[in-house]
Amino acid sequence: MSNESTIFEKIIRREIPADIVFEDEKCLAFRDVSPQAPTHVLLIPKKPIASTADLTDEDGPLLSHLWLVIPDLARQLGLNTGYRVVVNCGVDGGQTVPHLHFHILGGRSLGWPPG
Ligand code: AMP
Repeated sequence: MSNESTIFEKIIRREIPADIVFEDEKCLAFRDVSPQAPTHVLLIPKKPIASTADLTDEDGPLLSHLWLVIPDLARQLGLNTGYRVVVNCGVDGGQTVPHLHFHILGGRSLGWPPG
């Protein structure tokens, strides 16, 4: 694993700009720079976990916190008729940034299955 900071760590440290919509001591949410739906927000833990494959038992409370932030965030974003939460993992999952992130997508009817 590289010691270099990911782009998301740089966003957490405000080294590069982002359209931040929510922040607390454990996580940050900001709009995806390449939105795939009218609303497309990324929720990330501040802890630099590379992917779901790198989670450990000690991350349980953090994961629970993130999942509880999601519905509040969805309400804040006005996603009153539903939304989708996507977590890509690894090459086959289409993950491009090695920092755990939850895509929150909404604002239109989303197709299934995903590509
Ligand atoms: P994934 O492909 O699941 O790893 O998702 C990474 C996401 O990060 C993609 O949807 C990108 O559009 C998004 N992204 C990459 N760089 C930035 C950035 N600087 N600000 C906001 N979103 C970004």
